[in-house]
This record gives sequence, structure tokens and C-alpha cells, in this order.
Amino acid sequence: MSESTVRIGLVLPDVMGTYGDGGNALVLRQRLRMRGHNAEIVEIGLNDPVPESLDLYTLGGAEDAAQRLATRHLQRYPGLQRAAERGAPVLAICAAIQVLGHWYETSSGERVDGVGILDATTSPQQTRAIGEIVIRPTLSGLTQPLTGFENHRGGTTLGSDATGLGRVDRGVGNGVGDGLEGAVQGSVIGTYLHGPVLARNPELADHLLMRALGVDSLPPLDLPEVDLLRQERLRA
Ligand code: GLN
Repeated sequence: MSESTVRIGLVLPDVMGTYGDGGNALVLRQRLRMRGHNAEIVEIGLNDPVPESLDLYTLGGAEDAAQRLATRHLQRYPGLQRAAERGAPVLAICAAIQVLGHWYETSSGERVDGVGILDATTSPQQTRAIGEIVIRPTLSGLTQPLTGFENHRGGTTLGSDATGLGRVDRGVGNGVGDGLEGAVQGSVIGTYLHGPVLARNPELADHLLMRALGVDSLPPLDLPEVDLLRQERLRA
């Protein structure tokens, strides 16, 4: 096949990827392949520099200690930051929002400098947010509620350069009293939703793919089992 391959970066799955967040990369690859594209996942581990040339990037959630390791690695090898600057889509789950922000405070009160591509800061809240969450997306192009599972102690405050991904219908979200969930800035989309979020919310998966491919629409996929999972989760 002469068509080029879409390369999906799965960033630091060795330290970031709680609740099967690596599944987001599988969903992206599968939805591309089902539409006849060549697609591959490029795993970038703690022993690898972060390439800036990939078509899109996904990062998963993590415990505090693991997320510190990831932060240091991304600062040392700024390929992700360069890719985001040129507009490559980046999906950042939970701890990854915190890592990509200006700084975050761990549960033990230590403040860690982040990567700084999201205008966001994170501090631990009184209680841990755990459970099913449903949000109404405010990001243009998304029309359907997003369902996920959240588990985080950090509460994220957005600065003026970032907007939420949506408003919380059920659950906690960013957890700082503004009713927002997630952080969007340029081509970076952050969300507290595990699930994996793209398995539960195909519209978000296709949104990322359209951006990566530079197209306005994609042929629909008929996947009744995905719809079923979605309905089940939305009712939970
Ligand atoms: N360690 C972070 C927190 O508790 C993120 C947790 C996660 O990614 N699930 O806020």
C-alpha cells in the first residue's frame, strides 16, 4: 500500500497508564484500520527519547511517584511539547493533565514543576474523587455526553489560556468548584476520564483522528457493542 502510516505515540506506558489507559491507543489504531488506513502504535518508554514527528500522542494516568518520573522524562526530551506546538493532537488522561500543566502538588505536599503546555495547576483536595463521571462536552465538534471513571486526589485550576473539555453532570471533574472537567489548549485535550475514555466515547476518538488526518469527517463505523457499552455506562 502506498498510503503512509498514521503513527500513534503511546507515551510512557511503563509509568503512566492506570486503568488500562493504554487502550486509548488501541482504539485509535483500530478505528483507523477499520477505515482502511495503515496505523501503528509507537511505545515510548522511560529508556527512549520522545519523538516529535508522530501524528498523535496519548498519555495515561499515574500514581504520584510514577507521574514524577514521567514529568522529568518529558522535560528532558521535549518531543511532545514540540509536536503539540506544531498542532499534533495530544490526549492526556488524569495525571497527564497535571504533568502537562505548570505545576502540581503531590498528596504529600511537594510542588513539582510540570511541562507547561497546559495553562493549569493542580493541588490535592480534601477528599479523593472516585467513581463514575458524566460530562457534557463544550469542545466544539463534540455533541454527545462523555462517560468515564475518575480516581484522583488532585484538583485542577485552569488559567485563561485553557478551557474545560466539558461541564460535569455527574461526578467531580477538575474539582475546584467551577463545574469544569478537563483542560483543552490548542491541540492538547486533557480529561480525568479513565475507561479507557476512547473505548466508551467513540466521538472523542474520531475527533482526535480527524485532527490527526486533517479531515472534517470520517466514514461512520457500525459497532453496536460499543454503543451498548456506552449506554450501560451512562446508566451506571
Ligand atoms: N496522582 C494523581 C492524583 O491523585 C493522578 C491519579 C490518576 O492519574 N489516576 O490526582
